[in-house]
Amino acid sequence: MSVLVVTGPSGVGKGTLIKHLLERRPDYRLSVSATTREPRSGEVDGRDYHFLSEQEFERRLAAGDFLEHALYAGNHYGTLKEEVERAAGNLVLEIEVEGARQVRKALPEAIQVFIAPPSDAALRERLVRRQTDAPEVIERRLARAREELDARKEFKRVIVNDDLERAVDELVELAATIDSPSHVPPEGAHE
Ligand code: ADP
Ligand code: 5GP
Repeated sequence: MSVLVVTGPSGVGKGTLIKHLLERRPDYRLSVSATTREPRSGEVDGRDYHFLSEQEFERRLAAGDFLEHALYAGNHYGTLKEEVERAAGNLVLEIEVEGARQVRKALPEAIQVFIAPPSDAALRERLVRRQTDAPEVIERRLARAREELDARKEFKRVIVNDDLERAVDELVELAATIDSPSHVPPEGAHE
């Protein structure tokens, strides 16, 4: 089983890229994260997220149920260990940067890729055009994005999501190299 961690700022296109990866690689499954954020319209509990109350999230955190977790724009997000343990095939984690750092330690064999926007303006435009977040939420996410963009240098693998088709191809190629691990050193390895 391989674990692929896809990280980068909100609105950069992580979800879109992963959707296309899963179409081309049905042997991959997306890890369903837990969050205390309110469901967006159309989101389904257990499919898009495990939507937990603040109390339930804290309880599971104290019980050691999370592989990683982070506070992001006022809400908690985390990957439940059971998501990784129950994975039969390959698994994709779509998480923010702080969580990716934790996975780097907890699961050094996982391959990580940072998705970068073509520009700051493009990132803002995508968050606005997506129409999922209120203006103040978008501002919070953009403030956080400034720190997250600095983290790009921590990642050996970066895909710039300018042209969607090309970016999808790069992600699919990366997934293909994971299958021949001799060509890809894990995150924890020194090159
Ligand atoms: P994330 O999962 O990183 O928060 P999304 O996948 O939801 O981001 O993408 C944010 C918005 O940007 C969506 O409306 C999506 O359709 C759009 N988008 C994604 N990739 C591109 C791209 N390469 N060019 C233009 N728009 C894009
Ligand atoms: P959204 O509210 O847009 O669904 O997600 C906000 C941010 O949280 C995104 O950057 C997303 O990748 C990240 N995220 C989603 N699930 C997890 C998770 O399980 N752990 C961490 N650390 N971040 C997550």
